[in-house]
Amino acid sequence: MPEKSTITGAWKTALTQLDTASKSMILPDDIHQLLRNFDRILTVSVPVQMDDGFLRVFTGFRVQHNAARGPYKGGVRYHPELTIDDLKALAMEMTWKCSLAGVPFGGAKGGVVCNPKTLSGRELERLTRRYTYAIMPVIGVEKDIPAPDVNTNEQTMAWMMDTYSMNSGYCSPGIVTGKPINVGGSLGRTDATGLGIALTITNAMKHKKMNLKGLKVVIQGYGNVGSAVGKFLSETGCRIIAVSSSKGGIYNPKGLSHDALMKHYQEQGSFVHFHRAESITNESLLELPCDVLVPAAMGNQITKQNADKIKAKMVVEGANGPTTTAADQILAERKIPVVPDILANAGGVIVSYFEWAQDAQCYFWCEHEVNTRLKNLLYRSYENVLGVSQEKGVNLRTAAMILAVQKVADAISVRGLSP
Ligand code: GLU
Repeated sequence: MPEKSTITGAWKTALTQLDTASKSMILPDDIHQLLRNFDRILTVSVPVQMDDGFLRVFTGFRVQHNAARGPYKGGVRYHPELTIDDLKALAMEMTWKCSLAGVPFGGAKGGVVCNPKTLSGRELERLTRRYTYAIMPVIGVEKDIPAPDVNTNEQTMAWMMDTYSMNSGYCSPGIVTGKPINVGGSLGRTDATGLGIALTITNAMKHKKMNLKGLKVVIQGYGNVGSAVGKFLSETGCRIIAVSSSKGGIYNPKGLSHDALMKHYQEQGSFVHFHRAESITNESLLELPCDVLVPAAMGNQITKQNADKIKAKMVVEGANGPTTTAADQILAERKIPVVPDILANAGGVIVSYFEWAQDAQCYFWCEHEVNTRLKNLLYRSYENVLGVSQEKGVNLRTAAMILAVQKVADAISVRGLSP
């Protein structure tokens, strides 16, 4: 693999995960090489008129990894340090996530290099509309369907849907998922990623014959995803003992009330000075003793620098790519299981698929139906991954990758090449 020496970070981790899985399965060399590559990487310039009247040019991307099993699918993120390599890793991961869950999509990811915290609402809207317009040639209801990711939300999706629809000349709700309900969104989508992580923890604990009641959980990143995990786990009797935002975290071994946390955050914009809790940095939060650690913030959080200090009994990846390859190895040697992102945080894209299917039928389901289908799908997924892990003697990540890669490889083989 000649390019290996020049690649770093998340992209290197993604390639290593694919290469590791390929060693425990029958993956023809040519298909392996094809999967290490991309169908398309689009870079666009996004000129935006700022509120002060001046024009500023941002850079946007849409990376499409593979569409052997269906249209490309994946989020759009806004971040000042966004790179193509990160997006390549994230797009590839979407291919595996969709395949593992059995939803008929391939993988993509996109975004704009910007700091949304420094942009006004109007500037964000103009940026989103121009970015959507710029990537229009490569997206479509049956081509590539964007969704929310880091620093984007249902409002972003409403602007994208409107821009695409107005330029197409007809209303096209299925062009994005994670939209508001009144423009074709699905009930249950907002909390789906968090609910999926909570359900995965439930599935894992069932196998470990551990009770959820009193289970000590640490959540790094108590934002959209992390706080939904906290909400659902609190309802089942788990004890959330530490949480954080980018401004820092708090810890109380006796447990923190989810409702009080949310109220404090709404009023103060951070968790700092939360009553009856000790302040803690995001780094030391990862090293707290607990039953389950959920890194639900950004990628590359558990690395070779801190992996030997992790005291959790299990890591469940809420974010995409929070554990590096070196850290994965250290955790495996220390017998700390890691439930991989492509299994644990698949709830979002699974309900995105339900949303897309509902849009196509123009027929909408009740929340109970959405959540029951999500629960059944994730249960099956967990059982399948655990089964392969036990049968082949590999960790949960490699087992999940084997299942996911196999389905994509089979789709490529049976389709053949055209032209
Ligand atoms: N951004 C989410 C993810 O990384 C959801 C993607 C989607 O729904 O397409 O899984």
